[in-house]
Amino acid sequence: MRILVTGGAGFIGSHLCERLLGEGHSVLAVDNFITGARRNVAHLLANERFELSEQDINKGLAVTGGFDAVMNLASPASPVGYLDNPIETLMVGSHGIHHALEVALKNDARFLQASTSEVYGDPLEHPQRESYWGNVNCIGVRSVYDESKRFAEAMTMAYHRKYGLRTRLIRIFNTYGPRMALDDGRVVPNFVKQAVQNAPLTVYGDGLATRSFTYVSDLVEGMLRLLWSDEVNPVNIGNPREMTVTEFAEAVLVAAGSECQSKIVHVTPAADRISDDPQRRRPDITRARTILGWEPRVSLEDGLKTTLSYFRQAVV
Ligand code: NAD
Ligand code: UDP
Repeated sequence: MRILVTGGAGFIGSHLCERLLGEGHSVLAVDNFITGARRNVAHLLANERFELSEQDINKGLAVTGGFDAVMNLASPASPVGYLDNPIETLMVGSHGIHHALEVALKNDARFLQASTSEVYGDPLEHPQRESYWGNVNCIGVRSVYDESKRFAEAMTMAYHRKYGLRTRLIRIFNTYGPRMALDDGRVVPNFVKQAVQNAPLTVYGDGLATRSFTYVSDLVEGMLRLLWSDEVNPVNIGNPREMTVTEFAEAVLVAAGSECQSKIVHVTPAADRISDDPQRRRPDITRARTILGWEPRVSLEDGLKTTLSYFRQAVV
């Protein structure tokens, strides 16, 4: 198969490209490096089945040759990434996805959209099932990401309904692992980098907000099972093990081992960093289990060890 991966030089995109190449597919990764980096896929460039093209999909998508699948991962993803690039984020969920969908349509290719648990906003239903419509503040600071992703889901369904395009919607919950950008501000790279540098772990506010953390190889497995399935409706992929941010900080300190001198501190970040911060997040993965036979396999303890090793060599 030949597969187009937009956002292919990002954190998740780079792992996805690696896995696809490992399965014998050919991959064209398109990226404008707004939050990703060429170095994430530098180790793939020698593979003759891998191509990397620098393009901003908001402006168009100039690609040649046929594709069996289009996997649309392009978008700033961390709160710092989308708060720094609000217009680009809204554009990628509207203009960008439109260009990607047109490529899929022209090629009669499968199309997978990387959606997010953020479509549920600050959820009033817990755990979150795919049937929940969400609780999003459409003028809040996070809306540039949440509404972009919600619009992108609507656009995907419109292409399915109008043209019968074989579309897939994966709602990704907090995913972590090697190659997360050191400065992207998400809780995993922040805490892991801080632990590696023996610096304080910065818990925002009371640290009682919860998240559920998925290791990247588990996510990629779920993504590919969904791509090759016949499921058009959204599927949550995430690890249902929920913990508070403070508990997560404690888990990072345990994984870092006794030589780590870091302590947990509570800090007050800039208001826009915590405004509309979802207070509880845990996926209901009944659909992933029954439709895809998918379960997360990597424990938080093992995933954190691998992530810590990466950050030890990446942090200078
Ligand atoms: P990332 O920032 O590392 O990767 C996104 C990639 O998209 C980057 O390489 C970036 O340069 C590229 N990109 C952004 N706008 C582009 C454009 N206009 N044209 C071309 N390339 C563009 O983030 P990630 O964590 O790897 O996320 C990948 C996808 O998964 C995103 O769509 C994100 O919204 C989604 N997602 C991620 C998580 C998570 O926890 N990591 C959770 C939910 C959803
Ligand atoms: N957070 C924190 N300290 C940090 C970074 C984030 O306490 O250094 C908190 C943040 O307020 C949120 C949670 O960790 O409650 C997850 O934030 P992240 O930016 O990783 O992603 P989100 O799930 O909010 O998109």
